[in-house]
Amino acid sequence: TNWVYTFGDGKAEGGAGDFERLGGKGANLAEMCNLGLPVPPGLTIVSDVCTFYYKNGRKIPEELKPQVMRGLQRMEAITGRRFGDTARPLLVSVRSGGRASMPGMMDTVLNLGLNDATVQALGHDAGDARFAWDSYRRFIQMYADVVMGLDNEVFEEILGDEKARFGHEFDTDLTAVEWQHVVSIYKSVIEEELGEAFPQEPEVQLWGAVGAVFASWMNARAVTYRQLHNIPEAWGTAVNIQAMVFGNLGNSSATGVAFTRNPSTGEKELYGEFLVNAQGEDVVAGIRTPQSITEVARIASGYEKPSMEKLMPEAFVEFRSICAQLEAHYRDVQDLEFTIERGKLWMLQTRNAKRTTKAAMKIAVDMVDEGLITEDEAVSRIDPTSLDQLLHPTIDPRVPREVIGSGLPASPGAATGEIVFTAEEAIVAEEEGRKAILVRIETSPEDIHGMHAAEAILTTRGGMTSHAAVVARGMGIPCVVGTGTMRIDIRNEKLIGIGVTLKKGDIVTIDGSTGQVLKGEVPMIQPELSGDFGRIMAWADRSRRMTVRTNADTPADARAARSFGAEGIGLCRTEHMFFEGDRIHVMREMILAEDEAGRRAALAKLMPMQRLDFTGLFTIMHGLPVTIRLLDPPLHEFLPKTDEEIAEVAGIMGMEPAALRQRVDALHEFNPMLGHRGCRLAISYPEIVEMQARAIFEAAVLAARETGAAVVPEIMVPLVGLRSELDYVKACIDEVARAVMTEAKMKIDYLVGTMIELPRAALRAHIIAEAAEFFSFGTNDLTQTTFGMSRDDAAAFIPTYQRKGIIEHDPFISLDFDGVGELIRIASERGRRTRNDMKLGICGEHGGDPASIHFCEDIGLDYVSCSPFRVPIARLAAAQAAI
Ligand code: ADP
Ligand code: MG
Ligand code: MG
Repeated sequence: TNWVYTFGDGKAEGGAGDFERLGGKGANLAEMCNLGLPVPPGLTIVSDVCTFYYKNGRKIPEELKPQVMRGLQRMEAITGRRFGDTARPLLVSVRSGGRASMPGMMDTVLNLGLNDATVQALGHDAGDARFAWDSYRRFIQMYADVVMGLDNEVFEEILGDEKARFGHEFDTDLTAVEWQHVVSIYKSVIEEELGEAFPQEPEVQLWGAVGAVFASWMNARAVTYRQLHNIPEAWGTAVNIQAMVFGNLGNSSATGVAFTRNPSTGEKELYGEFLVNAQGEDVVAGIRTPQSITEVARIASGYEKPSMEKLMPEAFVEFRSICAQLEAHYRDVQDLEFTIERGKLWMLQTRNAKRTTKAAMKIAVDMVDEGLITEDEAVSRIDPTSLDQLLHPTIDPRVPREVIGSGLPASPGAATGEIVFTAEEAIVAEEEGRKAILVRIETSPEDIHGMHAAEAILTTRGGMTSHAAVVARGMGIPCVVGTGTMRIDIRNEKLIGIGVTLKKGDIVTIDGSTGQVLKGEVPMIQPELSGDFGRIMAWADRSRRMTVRTNADTPADARAARSFGAEGIGLCRTEHMFFEGDRIHVMREMILAEDEAGRRAALAKLMPMQRLDFTGLFTIMHGLPVTIRLLDPPLHEFLPKTDEEIAEVAGIMGMEPAALRQRVDALHEFNPMLGHRGCRLAISYPEIVEMQARAIFEAAVLAARETGAAVVPEIMVPLVGLRSELDYVKACIDEVARAVMTEAKMKIDYLVGTMIELPRAALRAHIIAEAAEFFSFGTNDLTQTTFGMSRDDAAAFIPTYQRKGIIEHDPFISLDFDGVGELIRIASERGRRTRNDMKLGICGEHGGDPASIHFCEDIGLDYVSCSPFRVPIARLAAAQAAI
């Protein structure tokens, strides 16, 4: 098998299309090479080798070695250098890179091939001994860390001590002799700590590094990242071996990262940072404060040092044109890594850039206007779940701001919370339901979990491409970085700002859109849902087939959902109306009544309350469909439970506590979810159905008169398993309908349907459809009854199931296509066989989950219904499913 693909000198064996085997980095290096861009030559070991490595007890296959050696010879021919040569040595980088980008999650080794002999040759050849020794010490540091497992901090400490001893502030100040000295200390520390010498043989170094890249696929950071981003373990990572180019070769050399458009705002402007006389990850590590690539951004963001545009105009012009070429080629914003060696530009990476939702919207809309992509493509490029970010609040611009510090605006949105200084504290705060702002000098991949748990992130070091900035943007968490005016006193847990010192637990507000840090809590406002968002949503609405309704129980929910574009109510849970205000007392009166007459008396009091709510809903929805579900939960849910509650309620109801206790006990059920609920209540107590139906029809009359729009209520009978159950309840409803129509002298159109939430109902759908005029899939209960898993108890074992790989997703969040989905498919087909114009919808949690929405599109449902705040997500996901 062919396990190695080479690239270099304008030709590559692979291309962008091979990303599954070559990984994103390797595929795009090949593609750039084929485009004729300046890319240092190299080779890619395909990701299948990673799979082999883990299947065979962490061994690299023997046949790989000659293939890699052949690729290396090609690199030698192109560069005119030789690996391990003591005159003109070829140095390489060993870079990981899988199918999905995992920024900073796996390990890379630079300057490989250096040893005590080649370092001399390198210095001699370049005419710069300082550079050679700087490269050697970098190599030892990275190799010892990544391959030999000696923590980098050991070296940073030595370097810090030596710098102080030599009286230097920056790494770039050290001379060749000083670096040589540092190298000798490094080597002896390795021997001391590990009991083995730093390997001198370049081939040994090479295979050590390749093995370490494969091993890094399973390190804790990478495993966590994959879990957070749903990346399968089986993909594995590819390895790239590439000829080194040097950004640390003096002041005409540099290294940098850039975006073809601003990843935070979406503004069409080249955006990036670089460092002179530096290498690799110096820019993102935040060791020195980086400089702006363009002059415009330098001025706008207040970078102190000159831009690359000014310092290296020729390289800049070439770089700018490559950026434009790559963006047009990939038809998307690119995130680039490059190095300038003595004035010559080299491209080291390109990929589609991660961006904030706001930027994603603007970029998609701009690209449509530029004629680069179609409207449907624009719609497809927005991650529906990321719309959550847009619904985040921002700081009210009208209130005065007490600014205590400011830095770079790394990830937009605003958040308030208490200061914590460690990732662990952020996690604890989240668990305890407190809001935390994670304050760090800088962040590293170990902090990922804490960053996730925080409301916002603040770092005093680093630029727009620092770890904190990149990760926060990806997570949609507000973030401010590089607040040079603020200082963190870790030992005393203090944050020192302009004129104030704050301690752990003090409240601050972070404005990730301006870069400001404010004292205390600040009023926020909801975001504007027009502009780019509005245009994308309009395109989405045009492209989707399914309608999007909302689950709304109150007029307030309905109003919010309308503003988010809901096209009807898919589920109104009437019981939620009974918990409001004094109604619970009347409800209890009904439940505790001794006989039917007592129940009817209480129901008569409840009727006008329900009618009022329904009139409100119908009026707000103005002729749009409204599905109302009859009373569903078991009655004891409305009753008090503890002795104190019972005493209190008995007082209000004028009952003896003991009598109340008896009645509560009588209603007790062992398994209420499968007990006396749903249509079973309606059959036991038809007077409840009569009351609810009357409230619905009278409200329909009132709303129709008031709005002039015809109201067509859809009455949904819950938990039906037998057609005879539905027949019984439907007969009650029809009778009330006839009565109300006669009284009002008005014809009301209405539908009676059922929720499909029991496997029996799904299987008997063709029979039930003889009575039901619509089906709505209640996937919360259907999942529960299909799996036989109580959704209220599943939290005890679902996480274990996921961790042990028994299931991939929580079926209560993302629909189980194979099982529950099969029942939905069966019910849809059988239902439509009986009644071909049958309206079908979904109203469980899954109605707002993009993957589940795709499934609904595939099986031809008419609508999805979800909570109000998920309506925009569902509109977009429904469009993507239809495109
Ligand atoms: P990551 O996936 O963490 O970004 P990379 O493999 O892209 O890791 O390497 C990180 C950085 O190392 C690059 O951005 C680049 O600056 C530097 N680098 C990698 N390979 C080379 C090379 N062949 N020559 C010069 N610098 C390199
Ligand atoms: Mg890295
Ligand atoms: Mg990179």
